[in-house]
Amino acid sequence: MSLIVQKFGGSSVSDAESIKRVAKRIVDTKRAGHDVVVAVSAMGDTTDELTDLAHEISPMPDPREFDMLLTTGERISMALLAMAIKSMGFDARSYTGSQAGMITDSRHGDARIVDVTPVRVREALDQGAIAIVAGFQGFNRDSRDITTLGRGGSDTTAVALAAALKADVCEIYTDVDGVFTADPRMVKKAHKLNHVSSEEMLELAAAGAKVLHIRAVEYARRQNVTLHVRSSFSNDEGTIVYNPDRAKEFEMEDPTIAGVAHDLSEAKITVTGVPDVPGKAAKIFTLVAGQGANIDMIVQNVSAVSTGATDISFTLPKADAAKCMQTLEAHKDEIGFEALRHDDQIGKVSLVGSGMRTNAGVSAQLFEALAEAGINIDLISTSEIRISIVVRADIVPEATRVIHTAFGLDSDSDAVVYAGTGR
Ligand code: ADP
Ligand code: ASP
Ligand code: MG
Repeated sequence: MSLIVQKFGGSSVSDAESIKRVAKRIVDTKRAGHDVVVAVSAMGDTTDELTDLAHEISPMPDPREFDMLLTTGERISMALLAMAIKSMGFDARSYTGSQAGMITDSRHGDARIVDVTPVRVREALDQGAIAIVAGFQGFNRDSRDITTLGRGGSDTTAVALAAALKADVCEIYTDVDGVFTADPRMVKKAHKLNHVSSEEMLELAAAGAKVLHIRAVEYARRQNVTLHVRSSFSNDEGTIVYNPDRAKEFEMEDPTIAGVAHDLSEAKITVTGVPDVPGKAAKIFTLVAGQGANIDMIVQNVSAVSTGATDISFTLPKADAAKCMQTLEAHKDEIGFEALRHDDQIGKVSLVGSGMRTNAGVSAQLFEALAEAGINIDLISTSEIRISIVVRADIVPEATRVIHTAFGLDSDSDAVVYAGTGR
């Protein structure tokens, strides 16, 4: 007998029929003799709809109340799923994040898990019941308030439960067959990876492949949880995301390139005419960090001889751009820059693969393919196993497909997307 954690994403539980289908899948696992703990997301696009609703009330919803609102989505799906399982003759109990012992820090909207005390989940298992836990939410002991883990955070709930309960398997069920070489909604010829290292998966997630929440991958790597990403709409094997201790099993077969990810969630700010003297970049990025914005790429031009001034561009989440523009503008005279420019019509495309470490020609091949397609690159950044480029937002689909083809990743058949709106 094993302990299996199964996570079902929103598109897998989008209506009553889907909830019954998922309940059957869970019951089948229980029938096979396993203990089952489930983490479930809100139905369909509920979280987006609640977000829209909140913004109709207030342009900047109060963070505490916003978390309170968003966590209701998962409460609906957990209760309905438990009911569906019960009506199939099996015992099931649903728990909110706080009932399940998901203890977080106090950061509303982006809380980190600091402790997991799943006493009631254990109790349910000991009594032969299936435990259903609301994804994406937790509880802060100091403020005694409900928190959320950030969009896509139900994956992290599942991994945290798997680690705390020492589960044998952590399955992430979604609306595609696993982790693909690109988002199958954008690249029809993307193919499923049978396995991918957690290191590559981290880079893919950081570069925008939303199939897994980046913090879930980090958590799984830290706590040594193997993930199995698969479809709730088929019985096919999905993708194993493996940690370094299992590298020997898989690494020999891994290709140079794992995949291409895209990200349309960032904006670019350019500060022009910054005096080229020590301390200016420090001042700019201290102000930006003070707004809690996570900077991604930074590019500083060579200063013009005639003016002794330079331009600094950086990318950050679109949602953080306005407040960063405001704070920089407020310190214009102190920094001494000329002007600020804001551009939210950009997108990032990233090529990821651990084989890049030992293959010198990868960037040349990438730039050649883009040049041949007449695609203009705005910014470039690299890590040991990733090359990212920023292009115009409307070019992102084409750039992603061009790179996918250039690195021989195209499959002969079209990828299946079973459900979901991709929102
Ligand atoms: P869930 O609701 O199950 O959590 P998500 O929408 O968060 O599902 O994640 C699944 C989606 O991730 C897929 O429908 C797909 O469009 C997108 N995606 C982006 N990049 C990839 C990738 N490399 N492989 C698979 N899916 C990807
Ligand atoms: N329902 C939340 C969201 O849409 C959490 C999740 O689905 O993982 O972001
Ligand atoms: Mg998700």
